[in-house]
Amino acid sequence: MKKGLFLLSLIVTFCALGTVSASAVTNDTVKVGLRYGSSVMSSANLENDEGSGYEFGYFEDDRTFVSLGETDETAITMEPARRDGIQVTVTGTDRVLYESGEDTLAVMPQGRDPVTWFRGNRYRGGFEYTVSGGGLQVVNVVDLEDYVKGVLPSEMPGDWELEALKAQAVCARTFACLTTKHLSAYGFDVCNSTDCQVYSGIGEATSATDRAVEETEGECLYYDGELAQAYYHSSDGGATEDAENVWGTDVPYLRGKEDPYEARTSIPNYSWTVTYTWDQLTWVLQNSGYDIGDVVDAYVSEVTDLGNVYSVTFVDSRGKTLVRTGDDARMAFYSTTLGKNVPSLRFTITGGTGGGSGYAVNSASGTLSALDGVAVISGGGTVSRLEGEDHTAISASGTADLTGGSSGGRGSASRDGITITGTGNGHNVGMSQYGARAMAEQGHDYIDILEFYFTGIRVR
Ligand SMILES: [Zn+2]
Repeated sequence: MKKGLFLLSLIVTFCALGTVSASAVTNDTVKVGLRYGSSVMSSANLENDEGSGYEFGYFEDDRTFVSLGETDETAITMEPARRDGIQVTVTGTDRVLYESGEDTLAVMPQGRDPVTWFRGNRYRGGFEYTVSGGGLQVVNVVDLEDYVKGVLPSEMPGDWELEALKAQAVCARTFACLTTKHLSAYGFDVCNSTDCQVYSGIGEATSATDRAVEETEGECLYYDGELAQAYYHSSDGGATEDAENVWGTDVPYLRGKEDPYEARTSIPNYSWTVTYTWDQLTWVLQNSGYDIGDVVDAYVSEVTDLGNVYSVTFVDSRGKTLVRTGDDARMAFYSTTLGKNVPSLRFTITGGTGGGSGYAVNSASGTLSALDGVAVISGGGTVSRLEGEDHTAISASGTADLTGGSSGGRGSASRDGITITGTGNGHNVGMSQYGARAMAEQGHDYIDILEFYFTGIRVR
């Protein structure tokens, strides 16, 4: 029995970044957590914007609303009842409109196409309140398409090309249908923050973003018949990356690709440079809990076939090394205190001992930023590490010396620290949003965009 359970948990863990068959969304209705956990409210108001009055009741398992009472009042307040359950009063008064003996209450605004105010935002759909931690958890129970309309403008600027917006709409819808992370703890599908997808009701929706949702109604990304994980990032800087090389888990449709589209458009802050002194680097790494002394060297130690960074090596004054791979190769540099970070996995480091000027080696991306860790095959067929000060490479035009670099060359790290130079912004997995925009500008439709960034998927 125990063994069986262990096997099951392994499978579930594996599926977490693989494919999940069941849709989280029931009956095309999404439950969005607005206030929960530490943000539960002592009381929660609603006010009609369009429509008038409310019905009180509960949501069935299939998320259809069952009415048990109603009011014509337009401004109401829900709060935990003194004993059990939840009571509803006219806002600003003690006049009780409804009492629920249960710890959960559903409120459905009435009228044609009703829109309701809750804490400065306007929402479609109904609300579900649950007594939790001495307060009320607040959930918006909303039609899937209305939810996607609310999310889209917070994930992509509404004035971007329609086909890019449509690609983003399919990603947002797919995410909602696949996400179950809050279901067991709180009973809703997605939260309203960047943890899931930013959602503030009708929010910033424009006619263009609404149109993108309507023209892709009900469409999601599938791989091998299952919903696919529609990861996206701001820009890839030249190439996306295999999920395996970033997060350590192989996902068949999250494959890296050289991106010819981004370079043909203008992307703000596309190229970036960030510097760290050795003291700063030591502080950042130690503050993150890494076991390393005074850092005296840092260099890119492995690059993927697509030219993205796979690993970075840090060396301290006693020769101890710390190697960070995948997404950690950039996140290791992250510091809110210093206000510094490495925005993408597409970068080179100068200033460390690997900080030469860059030598062309037969890789897809063109250059290696460091000679450290490079293996060479001798004429006799022996494979060995490249060591020593002077190297010669055979190029098309003869031979070239591989000594020296712009920052002092191999064997002597810069006194000032390191300079990291790169392109792109994000984790490099899945769809590049600026790439999607560039493809749309270059005449591609949303299906082309999704099929380019997600290998072997279907939109349906
Ligand atoms: Zn969330």
